[in-house]
Amino acid sequence: MDSPRESRIDPAMVEAIGALGNEQRLQILLALAETTNDHQDQWHAMSFTALYEAVDIGSTSQFSYHLSKLVGPFITETDDGYRLTYGGDKLVRGLRSGIYESTTGFEERTVAGTCVFCETDALVAALENELFVVRCTACESTLLTDSFPTSQERHRTPEEIIDSFGSRIWSSVVLLRGGVCPECYGPVDTAVDAHDHDHDHRTAYTHRSTCEGCRFVIHLPLEVVAAFHPAAIGFLWEHGISLFELTLWEMFAFIVNGQMRTRVRSLEPFDATVTLAVDGAGLELQFDETHSVSNVNPRSAPATDRQH
Ligand SMILES: [Zn+2]
Ligand SMILES: [Zn+2]
Repeated sequence: MDSPRESRIDPAMVEAIGALGNEQRLQILLALAETTNDHQDQWHAMSFTALYEAVDIGSTSQFSYHLSKLVGPFITETDDGYRLTYGGDKLVRGLRSGIYESTTGFEERTVAGTCVFCETDALVAALENELFVVRCTACESTLLTDSFPTSQERHRTPEEIIDSFGSRIWSSVVLLRGGVCPECYGPVDTAVDAHDHDHDHRTAYTHRSTCEGCRFVIHLPLEVVAAFHPAAIGFLWEHGISLFELTLWEMFAFIVNGQMRTRVRSLEPFDATVTLAVDGAGLELQFDETHSVSNVNPRSAPATDRQH
């Protein structure tokens, strides 16, 4: 498949984007979205006359001209009238949520969790260069970076903003389990990368998912992929840990203290085991060459590296 740099820009796409640079056309799109809200029906259609009356455009011929520029990529014409396409719906939601506005951010906050690099409990969450980051103040490593739309900070306290990133990451993990891109829902390719830590010569492994279509890339610790296996979710729950209430940065403590331990026997073909150890009980999750968990075995009380 061509990369975006190699692929040519489709003239139809240029025309579609060009059609949007007009206030009256955006009014038409917003009017269609409004009727969807009024009728509580996501696919409610609007007649030519009703749509014309809903917008402030002088003549029907002018209205008809603007409408024709939107039919296709943003509006579909059905027997019942006009309604937004998926692209039109996405565009209106983007406009309403302020996708083109910059994020103002929040004051840096201390968060619970342990640095996987220096093993210190010194993590902070902050907005840096329009991105949400979790960073260690002891060794200055960045542990997590995520996109930060302004709609995510609106109507939320800093604590609520931070919690919302926790939920967002887990929602991506659930989609990626099914091979679905969290951005465009296209198929993803998976791989596992090894990262050597300088301070203790340990190697950390991340599970990398890459979307073939929109080129979205997400790296997650291999332990996270193991922990989202239904058997692991149940095992943790039985030991008083609700995985969905835990954030990724809180989970780092389990990796550092050995409660989640990874053993990779081979990267190509992939062959690895993640072992969970809580309260003297254990669960072993075996990965296969597809980078997903293929086998689960209970294990009794594996020793942990370090206990807090
Ligand atoms: Zn650190
Ligand atoms: Zn995608």
